[in-house]
Amino acid sequence: MEEKRRKLSQIRLESVLPDELIENTPLINVFTATVIDPKNISKVILEINQLLPIPDLQHLKRMKSRNILLFPVAWIDNSTNEEVRNFLQTKNISIQYLNIEDIKTVSVAAIPPKTKSQYTVINQLWPCNFHSNKYLEQLVENTIFSSEELETHTKFLRLAMEIRKKSNGNKCGVIVTDPQRNDLILSGGYSMAEKNPILHAAMVAIDGVARTQNGGAYNEYPIDIDWENLLQGDFKGVAVKEKVNNVYEIDESEYLCTNYNIYMTNEPCTMCAMGLIHSRAKRIFYIYPSQNGALGTTCKIHAVKDLNHHYEVFKVAAEDIDYFQCE
Ligand SMILES: [Zn+2]
Repeated sequence: MEEKRRKLSQIRLESVLPDELIENTPLINVFTATVIDPKNISKVILEINQLLPIPDLQHLKRMKSRNILLFPVAWIDNSTNEEVRNFLQTKNISIQYLNIEDIKTVSVAAIPPKTKSQYTVINQLWPCNFHSNKYLEQLVENTIFSSEELETHTKFLRLAMEIRKKSNGNKCGVIVTDPQRNDLILSGGYSMAEKNPILHAAMVAIDGVARTQNGGAYNEYPIDIDWENLLQGDFKGVAVKEKVNNVYEIDESEYLCTNYNIYMTNEPCTMCAMGLIHSRAKRIFYIYPSQNGALGTTCKIHAVKDLNHHYEVFKVAAEDIDYFQCE
């Protein structure tokens, strides 16, 4: 038992993050010049901030040792020293303080860095302001879960694997839990697509949750899941009580999967990923990437800014997937 517990918490879950958090920060070219006498630096900064502000580059410091950031290259048509000087003069900048014969073009961050590692890279190009977000850093570094939480998530992913066995062709198994109610299992399901083409496992599981809230749309529902046996005495489901009592405990104060965790054996397709967005799921966990998966493989639906709800996505680290096959 001790051996098993240790192993469960060692399974690594990786955040599936929006590209903007893992890709390099986009760059933009700017002109810079040296301030001839260091004594004039503060005077020059004050003047240039006042007369030549750069609203889009507020995240950048104006100076890098004796070099001052003048303005983006795109602001003028020709990148000649003469053009730069003319432009500065039209803005009433005191160019006598600058070594105007030695204008340089430098690449700097076009937008503020979002993570510490992005900041480290772009701060070397040009000094930059940065406010670290602790939660985000934990997501990026995959340190968001305690070993106890990892154990819980792994346990439910294994349970989803058990449920998957029921689906025709072992397509997919899903478990829905409420982390705010001590990981109460609310619903679960497996793919029933052979009966109805939209009844993928996630859709079945969402419908199961809807049934606990006086809703539910499908006639098909997996009634052959032996929850009591699967949970081995740890039976605490609501939707799943149907198996035992043939009745649901209705909780109409909830809205579908709001704040619920969804454990899936397989990365969901676009339809299911959108269904989980509409149902306001909190976190999606999956073991296997899918060819048509919408949470990392073909796209990252959870990273689409225009959608009105966003959940977090975690997948089992590739080298730990084997662990789920041994059962
Ligand atoms: Zn699907």
